[in-house]
Amino acid sequence: MKNIEILRNKVNKINEDIVNLLIERKTITDELIQEKIDNHLPVLDTKRENEIIEYFIEHKKELNPAFIKKIFNLIFEEAKRRYYKLEQLDSIEAYLKRKPILIAGPCVVESLEQISNIANLLSKYGIKFLRGGAFKPRTSPNSFQGLGDLGVELLYKAARANNMFTVTEVLESEQLERNYDFIDVVQIGARSMTSYGLLKSVGYLTAKTKKVVLLKRGLSATLSEFLQAAEYILQAGNPNVVLCLRGIRTFEQIDSNLRFTPDLASILELKEKTGLPVIFDPSHSGGCSDYVINISNAALQLGADGLMVETHDRPLESKVDAHQAIHPDKILDIINL
Ligand code: PEP
Ligand code: MN
Repeated sequence: MKNIEILRNKVNKINEDIVNLLIERKTITDELIQEKIDNHLPVLDTKRENEIIEYFIEHKKELNPAFIKKIFNLIFEEAKRRYYKLEQLDSIEAYLKRKPILIAGPCVVESLEQISNIANLLSKYGIKFLRGGAFKPRTSPNSFQGLGDLGVELLYKAARANNMFTVTEVLESEQLERNYDFIDVVQIGARSMTSYGLLKSVGYLTAKTKKVVLLKRGLSATLSEFLQAAEYILQAGNPNVVLCLRGIRTFEQIDSNLRFTPDLASILELKEKTGLPVIFDPSHSGGCSDYVINISNAALQLGADGLMVETHDRPLESKVDAHQAIHPDKILDIINL
């Protein structure tokens, strides 16, 4: 009996130590989170979290791997709670429910100055989603391909400095893996809609955290092909898919100024066939800055849940798609529609 007493006391002491260490850990992680926010660095780091778990599974064989995983995931979640509260980032879904969903930003991230100026102007109008390409799907390999990883980092910095979420396209799943914590909404572009390997891997990569995936309609895809492409992501375990219509290729392009034919009536059909949010891209579909507001109006009238609009602080100097860019101030015309 005496032995039990002694052992219990030892366990009690350990419990006390564990709790004190958890308190100490929380104080330090709170400080670390604040430091990252102040420096506009990504707060979430799932790669590091996984490395920590893997390290202990490898080196502490006395403990069951599932136990190690569970306990660390709980500790990590607790640490991140403060961050979610500070940034209200758990409300990305709430923002997606607020209609119309407005996503705006340049075709391509060009510099920190450019993306920060644009983010700053847009956030003044309450825009929460900042788009900007870093990995551009260009027709010619000789055209500017985007700033790559650096572009995503700059987009993230500009977004967080203005309390916004990032939206950016990936062409390969490795680009998402490397930049996972910088990307709030993963865009799969029109040219990749039929890249089924990419759809599957983006689906699996995002399934755990349910990161929002914005899927654009292929240039020549039928609506049923579009919906089946979305199904790849849904079936991988991620229900958070947003569909984006962006204009289709028709004979009209032979001699009209339209870059594509705005597939506006498809909004009606998609809204009937799926419960997923359906947004419209008035920039690529018309390819002309003068048409952006009217096409946006039409899309909203037809029931689109939102818009993704290319905006640039110096539209005519945009490195990519200058002819369709509008100034962020023009967003007011859309908000007032
Ligand atoms: C874009 O939105 O950046 C883009 C490249 O559009 P799409 O894939 O529709 O051509
Ligand atoms: Mn573009």
